[in-house]
Amino acid sequence: MSARCAMRIGRLVSHACAQPAVFDCARCARPMCRGHRSASLADACVQCVGEYAPPRARVDVSDADLFAFTEDELAAFAPHRDAVRPEYDS
Ligand SMILES: [Zn+2]
Ligand SMILES: [Zn+2]
Repeated sequence: MSARCAMRIGRLVSHACAQPAVFDCARCARPMCRGHRSASLADACVQCVGEYAPPRARVDVSDADLFAFTEDELAAFAPHRDAVRPEYDS
């Protein structure tokens, strides 16, 4: 399994971002997705450079719980995952 972004997000339910990670933060060593990479420091995450503070949600879902979904539950989040994705020129 490829690394998933470890940034905590969510105002109501705190959980890991879990987008595919593109780099490990040089400061906290957590895998981070493209969206949580600092704009000013390319090898750090937004939290380490003070650009983002994880919200203090009432409910906190651990990473173990987040990744403990069954295949059926995950399928509910990606109903079109078997559909042919259009390819674009980059
Ligand atoms: Zn970091
Ligand atoms: Zn992220």
